[in-house]
Amino acid sequence: MKWQSPIAPGLSWYQATLAERPTYPQLDGSTSADVIIVGGGFTGLQAAYQLAADGVDVVLVDAARFGDGASGRNGGQLGTGQHWWPEEMEHKLGKARSLAFFRMAEDAKSHLLDFARAQKIDIDFTPGQLSVAHKRNMEYTYRHHAEALAERYDYPHLSFMSKQETAERLGSSHYYCGLRDIGTGHIHPLKLLAGTAKAAAKAGARLYEMTKALNIDRADGRIAVETERGTITADRALIACNGYIQEHLEPKTAAKIMPIRSFIAATTRLPKALKILPGCESVDDSRFVVRYFRKAPTGELLFGGREVYSADDPKNVSKHLHRQIVQVYPQLADIDITHAWGGSVGITLPRRPLVDEIMPGVTSIGGFSGHGVMLSNYCGKLYADEIAGRSQDLGLYRDLEIPAFPGGERLRKPLLFLALTWFALRDLI
Ligand SMILES: Cc1cc2nc3c(=O)[nH]c(=O)nc-3n(C[C@H](O)[C@H](O)[C@H](O)COP(=O)(O)OP(=O)(O)OC[C@H]3O[C@@H](n4cnc5c(N)ncnc54)[C@H](O)[C@@H]3O)c2cc1C
Repeated sequence: MKWQSPIAPGLSWYQATLAERPTYPQLDGSTSADVIIVGGGFTGLQAAYQLAADGVDVVLVDAARFGDGASGRNGGQLGTGQHWWPEEMEHKLGKARSLAFFRMAEDAKSHLLDFARAQKIDIDFTPGQLSVAHKRNMEYTYRHHAEALAERYDYPHLSFMSKQETAERLGSSHYYCGLRDIGTGHIHPLKLLAGTAKAAAKAGARLYEMTKALNIDRADGRIAVETERGTITADRALIACNGYIQEHLEPKTAAKIMPIRSFIAATTRLPKALKILPGCESVDDSRFVVRYFRKAPTGELLFGGREVYSADDPKNVSKHLHRQIVQVYPQLADIDITHAWGGSVGITLPRRPLVDEIMPGVTSIGGFSGHGVMLSNYCGKLYADEIAGRSQDLGLYRDLEIPAFPGGERLRKPLLFLALTWFALRDLI
């Protein structure tokens, strides 16, 4: 079925390869619940599932269809740890906190895989991740990272790759060296998303698509979320709008999470003789505008790279991504692009997730800064755990200082886009 997300450009390969994507009704009228969730990506839907499984009466609304934001359209790479390498985090947060964040990310990884297994969601999990260096001078940093993780973070799954090994595993000599991580992998994100929505509905969550939250406020000791056709009142609210948060809905979150458009292209099936990614690992590189790619289990190359720092979506995405593919794989000069699509990555200034109490009973979660496939799911679970009194781990994120982007409502975006353009230019040096 063809479905164009109303909030993100292009038809995705994920949508084209999904057997079933159930639709959910629009909310028509007013209702009340214990918890109202705004946003049906991984964060919101995982929270809805966990809460409903705990017997909590939960309503979730999404302005589009579930997964139309980042969660159903991303690179599908789980990664390891947080956005920052732990040895970098140590400098800012100290060893104990850095270790706690690393362990939390490992728990997030296990949770995602265990959840999919328990719910019988086939997410096409494929093990292996290669992180590769586009500059010659990165060998020491990469070697040191593998050693640090093994020695100080009890993570033995990383190994350094020489230029030759990198070339063999990629099927490309474009990069100088790399790291191979056999403790993680990649998935079909929309399969996970659709499966999570199904599990949440089955557990008793009331789910509504095409239902935009217009306003959130407190009234008579409860929280009131206004939508076009009715108001939802609840004791608690979770705002899980990530890079799609709007200023008028929640200005504090909108000041701290900003959207960057990132784009992915899918090719036709790669000829086996080309020996591209023979081990089927996913790849991310060291550029500021990171290139991330992988071979789907059915043999197509899914290649992400193009980023856009403006309010408008570019017209020549396929062409641009084709050029990037050929830079890495000159042997793919004649490959056809079948799909090209984009989505908003929600970033924060320090590139760490935001967990914020907006007003009593209202929590905002998002801003995973391109590292949210496993962390957004896990934060949704931790939100439910906190309500059930099972775990206070969400507090690790809550305690981080996430400042607003500078410039105020009017200048915030232009200033950020200017800064990002400057950093992106440095990739060319
Ligand atoms: C192109 C791309 C590639 C990426 N690749 C990776 C990757 O390989 N690995 C990785 O770890 N991370 C990746 N990410 C990031 C990852 O996808 C996100 O961190 C994660 O999906 C965030 O989930 P979320 O539920 O917080 O937000 P989202 O999935 O963005 O969901 C937010 C939802 O809120 C809804 N919403 C907004 N406003 C309202 C409103 N007023 N009323 C109702 N609903 C509203 C939107 O419709 C949307 O569905 C990528 C992101 C993109 C865009």
